[in-house]
Amino acid sequence: MDTGFVVDPDVAARFPDLHPPLGKRAAVVEANRCLNCFDAPCMSACPTHIDVPQFIKKIASGNVPGSAKTILEANVLGASCSRVCPVEVLCEGSCVMHGKSERPIEIGRLQRFAMETFYDAGGKLPLRRREERQQRMACLGAGPSSLACAAELRQLGFQVTVIDRRALPGGLNTYGVAEYKLRTADSLREVEMIRGLGVKFEVRDIDAAGLEELEREFDVVFLGVGLGAMHRLDVEGSTSAGVIDALEFIEGYKTGARLTVAPRVVVVGAGNTAIDAACAAKRLGAETVTILYRRQRANISAFDFEYEHALREGVKFLWTALPVGLRETEDGIALACLEVAPDEAGLLVPLEGSEFTIECDVVIPAIGQSPLVDLLSQARGVSMEWGRVVIDRATGQTTNPKYFAGGDCVNGGREVVDAIADGKRAALGIAAVLAGNEVANG
Ligand code: SF4
Repeated sequence: MDTGFVVDPDVAARFPDLHPPLGKRAAVVEANRCLNCFDAPCMSACPTHIDVPQFIKKIASGNVPGSAKTILEANVLGASCSRVCPVEVLCEGSCVMHGKSERPIEIGRLQRFAMETFYDAGGKLPLRRREERQQRMACLGAGPSSLACAAELRQLGFQVTVIDRRALPGGLNTYGVAEYKLRTADSLREVEMIRGLGVKFEVRDIDAAGLEELEREFDVVFLGVGLGAMHRLDVEGSTSAGVIDALEFIEGYKTGARLTVAPRVVVVGAGNTAIDAACAAKRLGAETVTILYRRQRANISAFDFEYEHALREGVKFLWTALPVGLRETEDGIALACLEVAPDEAGLLVPLEGSEFTIECDVVIPAIGQSPLVDLLSQARGVSMEWGRVVIDRATGQTTNPKYFAGGDCVNGGREVVDAIADGKRAALGIAAVLAGNEVANG
């Protein structure tokens, strides 16, 4: 399927798959290792509850289209999830093989095999038999949560439009996931599958007036807007030309806008996005990439396997280092840091005389994203708590009955698969609430 997005050959060469795909024979061998457990823990560990033993059994028996359909019934973005899910801590982490001191079943790679074989053979999302309904639904944001909500609503017969300010749909799957995990073109192919259900896509920047317009135009608005901009490095000099936030950096090379990087890179923060940015910098040609973190190894929020991956890529880590200022020099950037340690109350305090300077060319802050408070505070009557949208957990409905929400703007930023589960749950919630006539029609 032509998505219109051309993968830069240089990017493809520099970012080979982190986990190469399984061939047919290897997939069948691996599928035959699965014990097809009753009450399978791998299934409960998946936020979208994919029937793992079932889809694996179908691969073992040679029914790959059936396997893909089993995955898609639970998770419409099953292809993306097979590439980006932290399976080590979800399905594969709970596989019973661990208890037998054996290698867990490679669920992620089997899922990828099923989905890619299905799509490569021209497979389409199966359209459920249902009646067309006239109610109009807007899904705001075109990331995983909105896409999952839109697909499910459309399968239920509603008229659905996904609205996003950016030219390409897919949200973080398209713009923000490291290329060696998920390619932009693969994310867009999945979007095209959802478009194939009859979901419309619109590029529109929504502000307060825009929200009012949406309320008039649509019966229900689903907020799947994710998070806002990344936190800025709050130190003197942080607006220097050599400072670029991690998501912008990742988007730059994924879209072909930035395919080189200066030799010395410092990444601030030690979450999964920091690791993605640091590894990307290495792949783009940086000679040294150092991740600076204010606490110790044990405190990082990145998964262990991401940390190990960064070490293998040659990324260095500097612990207990706190940036306090930067200035441009003739040679690049001088990043002033302090060594810090927790006091008795756990607060980080600088060690006396510990100031030191790191010479570098690029500083990439990766210290989390702020909530999209600006837009969400304009969604009249939608209550927020700690920067997150408050919803009814069963239906996804917000305190304004016209709005539902899910994904990062509700959970504060979790995995793609959590956003997908949220989106689908909200779609079912919308249908249930509409059936009870509890949503104000505009
Ligand atoms: Fe197969 Fe492991 Fe899941 Fe059991 S827990 S069904 S062995 S993948």
